[in-house]
Amino acid sequence: MRFFCIALAAASCAFADGVGIAFPQENALLPAVKRTYVIGAIPAADATQPLTIAGVTNDVYKTGAFIAMVPVEGGTNTITLTWGTNTLDRTFRVAFPSPPKPAATNTPPRDVRKDLGIPPDEEVSDARPKGKRIEDLTVMIDPGHGGQDTGALMPHGAGEKTVNLLQAQAIEAEFAKYGIKTVMTRTTDDEFPALYARPRRAYAEKVDAFISVHHNSTAADRDPREVRHTAAYASTPNGLALAKAIQQYVGPQVTGVKNAGAQMRSYAVCRNPAVASCLLEIDFINLPEGEDAALNDADRRSRIAHAVLIGFLDWLFAPDDGT
Ligand SMILES: [Zn+2]
Repeated sequence: MRFFCIALAAASCAFADGVGIAFPQENALLPAVKRTYVIGAIPAADATQPLTIAGVTNDVYKTGAFIAMVPVEGGTNTITLTWGTNTLDRTFRVAFPSPPKPAATNTPPRDVRKDLGIPPDEEVSDARPKGKRIEDLTVMIDPGHGGQDTGALMPHGAGEKTVNLLQAQAIEAEFAKYGIKTVMTRTTDDEFPALYARPRRAYAEKVDAFISVHHNSTAADRDPREVRHTAAYASTPNGLALAKAIQQYVGPQVTGVKNAGAQMRSYAVCRNPAVASCLLEIDFINLPEGEDAALNDADRRSRIAHAVLIGFLDWLFAPDDGT
């Protein structure tokens, strides 16, 4: 099925420029959930009109973006949106619950050194570069995802990759102001450096820190309005020190959302034994307000970039290792 339109005026028939349903995508197969979020956008000019999704009237954000939680059943589901004289259908499938698979056994742990091209006998350390002069530092900034890998989807249909790049570019500009060299793992939306190619490059180029920039979304059946927060992650103790130092400044005062702090989590880009690495989840973007802030609020991106810089300096100049 594809959307159709019963508007009288041809102009309002144009479901282009990010207008439509971004999630679930047409014919998508969702896991065995009992409800899902539906995100998308109607023309901003129609934002004051009542929007009905699966028979329930919903708020429309000023950009035209909307979110609704709708109940679903295993099998084929069709959801209808109506506003004014417009109608939009979306058909997708939901899997039936299947018995849990037996846990995989004997899976050897990944060899991080092999993944990153670090010779087995080479001594490496991800300790912070204590005493190194600012002008001698290089920080690798990694805009998450890219190319075919869009990352999380936003109501107007753009992917996380786009806002990750915007935020990473703001961080790059902020570090440059203070004479700190940066290297970007990608500089366009179309590139997709492979996951392990990023920390591999951080090791090969002997950078002093690695900061991966991401935005978050919820699983289909979780309402992002209930869990929206900012957080940082790391996969080594030294990486965690960097994540903590940064995340203390990327709080509600700059992002406008709750700060969940920094914690350990196993991420491919953060398991680098040669470079202190962390991953920032700036905000949730599978809701209208999160999309608007990440995509349209350049001031907020600058504030976040400044907070990342201050946190980085805090980490660099902390009195003891391990703080
Ligand atoms: Zn991501």
